[in-house]
Amino acid sequence: MIEKSSKIFEEKFGEKPDLYYWSSGRVNIIGEHTDYHDGFVMPAAIDLGITWSVKKNGGEVRGYTEKFDEMGQFSISSSERTKFEWMLYLQGVVEVLKKKGKNFGGVDFAIHSTIPIGSGLSSSSSLATGFAYILNDIYNLGFSRKDIAQIACEAEWWYGTNGGIMDQYCIANGEKGSAIMIDCRALTHEIIPIPKNIELVVFETTIRHKQINSPYALRREQAHEAISVMKELYKNKKIEKLRDVTFEMLETAKPQIIKKYGEKEGELIYRRSKHPITENERVLKMKNYLKKDDFEKIGETMAECHKSLRDDYEVSCKELDEAVEIAHKIKGLIGCRMIGGGFGGCTLNLVKKGTAQHFAGEIEEMYRKKTGIKGNPYICNTHHGLEVIK
Ligand code: ADP
Ligand code: MG
Repeated sequence: MIEKSSKIFEEKFGEKPDLYYWSSGRVNIIGEHTDYHDGFVMPAAIDLGITWSVKKNGGEVRGYTEKFDEMGQFSISSSERTKFEWMLYLQGVVEVLKKKGKNFGGVDFAIHSTIPIGSGLSSSSSLATGFAYILNDIYNLGFSRKDIAQIACEAEWWYGTNGGIMDQYCIANGEKGSAIMIDCRALTHEIIPIPKNIELVVFETTIRHKQINSPYALRREQAHEAISVMKELYKNKKIEKLRDVTFEMLETAKPQIIKKYGEKEGELIYRRSKHPITENERVLKMKNYLKKDDFEKIGETMAECHKSLRDDYEVSCKELDEAVEIAHKIKGLIGCRMIGGGFGGCTLNLVKKGTAQHFAGEIEEMYRKKTGIKGNPYICNTHHGLEVIK
């Protein structure tokens, strides 16, 4: 990969790069739709990622991406948004660093990426987090990996998205052979080794159902409504987010919720709150199952997660459910579930080592037969999130 990005650099800039870097994509093993409820997530950095060839320059950021065959540039001193759409993530990083009062110069770079764009493997966070890491390294800015994650997250907000910090945090801290369990409230993490005989197959349904009203804003509102009841009921407890509520507490509060919001709406609020609460418990359980190489429990927990996202949180769709159902018929499967925001996107399949290639071929074929849609499988393994390549 270095050779490839180095060669592109030489072609575009007429000289050799000085430095090489790696920034990964990521998958989320478990802990879906828990981050904004202050809960736990367990993503992993993967070996699909961006290889960067870099050289320091004065005050410009000049870069070439093979993906769009485009050379873009912007000046560090100017805050006017660059017309190169993909470079806005990098300009976001620059703007955040400027706001922090840092002094630094520019870079020339060329990138070669193996992360599919918009498929839920976080190509944008790989770009932003990788760039924050590079500027920090080249210009000795003294930031920690946690700082880098926060800078990259803010850079994506500057770009115009409003997601949480999970992706950037995972890329900044992820390690080969492991997932990373993040406490989204404390912003601390624990490295969780993944059994060596597991491989990952992400399956892209290539479907994205448009939502008219923001389904996530609605779910946040419903969580808020459940919390308002909890606060009245458990006056001696500090309850701010669903993170602070156990499943038993929710069960106890259910009649109250229904009394306050009516049968239909109350039941919905209950179900929508049940997902993040039970999902947090699943993340904690998964940590032990991974440590014990307990494939059966790993599979069960992923199945419960999918069911919860489908029936309680209601963010799945027909195609995701089909892809999950099909996966269960293929040899080598340990566990699978939908991943990401939902209403389309990808499923994650954990499979036994040595079966990934066959699994990928089968799921693509069976999904096409069943739905008439061509999906895309991506085989990957866990990897370091960020690295200087020597
Ligand atoms: P994802 O789920 O992959 O993060 P996003 O829509 O959030 O999808 O981000 C995709 C955007 O990130 C692209 O439109 C582009 O601006 C940028 N991007 C990702 N990978 C590359 C790349 N290799 N080269 C240039 N830009 C990229
Ligand atoms: Mg993204």
